Order: sequence, then structure tokens, then C-alpha cells
Amino acid sequence: MGLNKKSVDDINVAGKRVLVRCDFNVPLKEGKITDETRIVAALPTIQKLIKDGGKVILCSHLGKVKNGPNEGESLAPVAERLAEKLGQPVNFVADYNVTGEAATAAVEAMKEGDVVLLQNTRFRGKEETKNGEEFSKELADLCDVYVCDAFGSSHRAHASVAGVTDVVRAKGGECAVGYLMQKEIEFLGNAVENPVRPFVAILGGAKVADKLNVINNLIEKCDTLIIGGGMAYTFLKAKGYEIGKSLVDDEKLDYCKEMIEKAEKAGKQLLLPVDTAVAAGFPDPIDAEIAVDYVDADKMPADKLGLDIGPKTAELYANAAKTAKTVVWNGPMGVFENPVLAKGTIAVAQALADTDATTIIGGGDSAAAVNQLGFADKMSHISTGGGASLEFLEGKSLPGVAAADDK
Ligand code: AMP
Repeated sequence: MGLNKKSVDDINVAGKRVLVRCDFNVPLKEGKITDETRIVAALPTIQKLIKDGGKVILCSHLGKVKNGPNEGESLAPVAERLAEKLGQPVNFVADYNVTGEAATAAVEAMKEGDVVLLQNTRFRGKEETKNGEEFSKELADLCDVYVCDAFGSSHRAHASVAGVTDVVRAKGGECAVGYLMQKEIEFLGNAVENPVRPFVAILGGAKVADKLNVINNLIEKCDTLIIGGGMAYTFLKAKGYEIGKSLVDDEKLDYCKEMIEKAEKAGKQLLLPVDTAVAAGFPDPIDAEIAVDYVDADKMPADKLGLDIGPKTAELYANAAKTAKTVVWNGPMGVFENPVLAKGTIAVAQALADTDATTIIGGGDSAAAVNQLGFADKMSHISTGGGASLEFLEGKSLPGVAAADDK
């Protein structure tokens, strides 16, 4: 593994109470799960712990829980689906307090290989803040060993992600990462810290401001940095081009100039669009029919806005990706939600699907784009964490990863 952390293969759980932080933050519509990907992704770790004779206590957050505990954000539907997938009962503790008497009683009644699911950790409110100490202690009281398998939450120093590990460790318990975390760390960690070269990073999405540290870190780590999506226009403006009514982050123009210089000095290739799709306005609704022209990047009309990379750029980027041995991609090349403006994103996804390189897709919109466009099974790894994968690419230490014991 990229980082030398204990995994579920390194711990002995037989007869022990194992608390597993999962990412069961699944989309729900009228109480029904509309995408079970996250539940399926958690199964290997849970099954391993059951097989090894652990008493498996699962916890997770679901949704944002803005207005306090409520049935609409209860983990009850997850318990039901999980039981189906595991082919064994999952004892759901519906108590909004998450820990406490009901949870303790459920855990005391467990035999080896049993599974308990606690209620939505965010029902405790404090999970959102740094004052989760009491909750951390209560979670730790329920277990002997702790496993984190919630990559999507691992960038947050929450009680159930990080706080609990201090208490478990203080009483002599082990803290490990699950298979899902291990896979994320392996792919993202190796790509950033120890890539097989050439290493090409492709960044897109809406705003430069959201990805400042990612750009900075990747210029240092990669051989070629490719920029597309809305953020490309701020770079083009920084180069002195007319960008019309395109999305722009005027406060970041100097930053973009700095990054262009940094890449030049470091001898890194920084690729920007050479042509672009332009339209009179942003599509409304987002998937509405839209008339576009393709123009060279230095000939954008002042009264139009750029909404996708053009065909010449798509070819340039695809060729760069083809020469790579490692490719990391985060953020769409244009407004991919619209069929006309998805062409650039599709071209890049196709290039990644065709290459023999290790291809890693950051979570969030890029993962959604690759899934939606039907390329998911062609990629080496699609990250399950949007914010977490971005912080990894920034070179930050993630609290949920750092909190696991070293090997
Ligand atoms: P992000 O969340 O930063 O990865 O950004 C993804 C969003 O950026 C998607 O919803 C895209 O529609 C949007 N996007 C991509 N290209 C552009 C563009 N040229 N102008 C405006 N929005 C864009």
C-alpha cells in the first residue's frame, strides 16, 4: 500500500467487537435507495470481518442532517439492503442517540459473525463539529477494534472517522483501514507519490478557486498537466486571450500566471485548450438543446461563452493521455450534463478507456461523468470520495487515513 497502514488483513478480530466506519451515504428517493454502489463497495471488508469471527458493528453518516434527526435520513433502508446483500440478518439499532443503552444492549447480545448497524452518526450533531469527544468515547466503548472503510469521509476529522481512534488506541485496541480505503490509498497514493511515468494529470470542472492546491501540487508531481472545463478560461484570460462571457475567476488570474511560470521553470508541460465550443448563453435547463460554434481559443467572440473543449483540443489531450503510463483525472472538460457539451469529456474518457496506462478517476463529477457515459469498467480505479480524493491530490494528509495504526 502507498501508505504503510494496518489493514483488515493485519488484525485479529476473532471474538472481538469491531466497529467499522462505512460510507453508506447512499442517495434515497421516497425512502428507497436509488444507487447501492456504496453498500456494494463496503461488502468485502464486512464479509472478511464476519468470516474471521468478529462481532461486526457498522456505523455511517447519511445525508447532511440539517434539521436534526429524522426518519427520512435514518439508515433503516441501508440495514435492509445490506441484510439482502450479506444473506444474513443485520440488527439495526434505530435509536436516534446512535450510541447509548439500545446500542450497548444490541452489542452485548452479539455472537461471532453477527452484524449490527448503528443509526446515522450525524444524528448526534456533534459529529459535524470538533466537539465530538463524548461521542468518540461512546463509540469506542462499544468496541475493541476499529476499522475505517469510509474513504468519502476520511478528509474530515469527525468523531466516527478520527476521534474514536484515539480512545480505542488508548485502551490498547488496534485501528486499521478496510479494503476500500486500502484500494483508494494504493491507487491515489501511488499515483501522486510514486507514479509510473509519464504521469499525466487532467483537471477540469467549474472553478480554479476550488482546485488551487491540486494544481500547485500536481505541477510538481506530474509530467504533463492538462486543464479543461470552466477553469480553463481563467488560464486563457491569464494568457491575455479574450474569453467573452465564459466562467472566470478574476481574483485567480495572477495565480494562473504563476502556475504557468511554475510549469515552465520546472520543465513540465501545461496544456490548455487550443479551441473551444462557444454558445450565446448557458443551457437552461442544463440539458436543453443548444447551438454551438467551435472556435480557436485565441478567437473567442466577446459576446459568447465557452462551454466545452473543442475537437482539436480533444485530440491534443487524447494524444497526451495515450503516451502516459499513469493518468489521474478530476473534473469534466465541459458542461457534460448537456449532450452537445459532453463531447470533450467523452473524448477524454474514450482516450483513457483506450490506453494501457493506470487510469484513476477522482470522485464526484468526474466519477459521475465516467459512469454516466458508460466508461466505468474501462478505468483502473474510480475513487468513491470526491472531496477526499481532491485532498489526496493536494498532497494533504487525510485524518481518516492518518488515524489508522502504522504497520
Ligand atoms: P466541479 O464540481 O468543479 O468538478 O465542476 C463540475 C461542473 O463544472 C459540472 O457541473 C459542469 O457542468 C461545470 N462546467 C464544466 N465546464 C464548464 C464551463 N465551461 N462553464 C461552466 N461550467 C462548466
